[in-house]
Amino acid sequence: MMKNEIKTTCSYCGVGCGIIVKKDINNKVFVAGDKDHPVNKGMLCSKGMNLHYVANDTSDRILYPEMRWSRSHPRERVSWDTALTWSRCCCFLCFRTKFNGRILYRK
Ligand code: SF4
Repeated sequence: MMKNEIKTTCSYCGVGCGIIVKKDINNKVFVAGDKDHPVNKGMLCSKGMNLHYVANDTSDRILYPEMRWSRSHPRERVSWDTALTWSRCCCFLCFRTKFNGRILYRK
């Protein structure tokens, strides 16, 4: 395996085919089937073979956190701290509402 290669799993479906992801010097991503993987033995279906198109197309990818302060507001860029704090607050309020004020803990 070359230095810029990573073995991972195709994320398109539950079969879990092994893939090798490579990057060229321009940061373009390429995908190949992992010949050593017991599930697919190097083979990929048409979705898996075209995974790199999805990874390389950043035209509609959100690259930073965004929030809207109400349904009538447009989305605004926020810091990761703000986004994570608000998502924690929303989870807490959701649990509190759903479970009638009782907080549940897992052991
Ligand atoms: S390569 Fe095809 S069959 Fe394999 S996990 Fe990806 S989508 Fe599923």
